[in-house]
Amino acid sequence: MRILEGDYAILSEKIALVQAPWHPGAMKIAETVTFGGSRFDRAAEMRGQAQAMRKQDDACAILLWRGKPMIAGDDLLRLPMDHPVMVDAAADMIFLGREDAAPVFAADLSAWQPEGPQAETLDRFLDPSEQRHSAVPGAAFAELRAIMARLSPRDAELAATAKAVMEWHRSHRFCARCGAQSQIAMGGWQRDCAVCDGHHFPRTDPVVIMLITHGNAVLVGRSPGWPEGMYSLLAGFVEPGETIEAAVRREVFEEAGVRVGAVSYLSSQPWPFPASLMLGCAGDALDRELTIDPDEIEDAKWVTREEMAEAFAGNHPGLLPARKGAIAHFLLQAWLSDRLG
Ligand SMILES: [Zn+2]
Repeated sequence: MRILEGDYAILSEKIALVQAPWHPGAMKIAETVTFGGSRFDRAAEMRGQAQAMRKQDDACAILLWRGKPMIAGDDLLRLPMDHPVMVDAAADMIFLGREDAAPVFAADLSAWQPEGPQAETLDRFLDPSEQRHSAVPGAAFAELRAIMARLSPRDAELAATAKAVMEWHRSHRFCARCGAQSQIAMGGWQRDCAVCDGHHFPRTDPVVIMLITHGNAVLVGRSPGWPEGMYSLLAGFVEPGETIEAAVRREVFEEAGVRVGAVSYLSSQPWPFPASLMLGCAGDALDRELTIDPDEIEDAKWVTREEMAEAFAGNHPGLLPARKGAIAHFLLQAWLSDRLG
């Protein structure tokens, strides 16, 4: 399988570095990755009462437009339910959980049509455009990958959760058992089918991403279309019936022809592009001989610790590191500073 976008994007890392910077004891270092979680109370036991909670005075909502959260500066905006912008929100909202005691929802404004010629950039890998709604001056809808390294851990978790669940609803409108249209339920955490009584739940697809080392060097690769010089860790979907360790060994062999011995799990990162859970692993290569599969990746190579340190410092002439916020960046940085574990 090819290297995933997730590998190359930004979400998980930053949260970790900002919130619990290599703090021993309280939290594993590996949990400090961007999108690594903010101990948000999802209040799953309240999901059945989501409709009633929307009427509470302290209820608020974050806003998303076609997967792009609304931010003001570096903050994810929370707006009251009676805010004028809510006239453009879809009737069904996602109940994300509670902050202090206040219920927090996610509202989908995807049906709203922004003014101006800006939709053509939406399908690009990194959409640089921002959309502004006249009812919320000073705020804008922005691509999550473009802003994730600026958000607080809490804001990143809320935005990532909302984006992933909304995308699941968008792409799972019909019952997978009988084909009838299903209905949103349980505050957005379920879809029910009235025809066959089927219940469906948001899915997350596991992806292994691996720091493969041999002596003083790490194995990196790149996919076609990436910015010139950019290399990241290899990654691929875990297949049914496969362990994490087996997936690591299979993917590395498929993509680069390298046999891997011992594999260990390091850290995970929710990656809502659209629905991945990145499983960061370390693996020991048995040798350095590369046999690249051009159907899988464009290139792969071994990079020494010194070269990678130069790349991270922005001083390497031919090597760009994985993006800040992506778990690849996080794992490589931990490797460079000898802080894996
Ligand atoms: Zn059904």
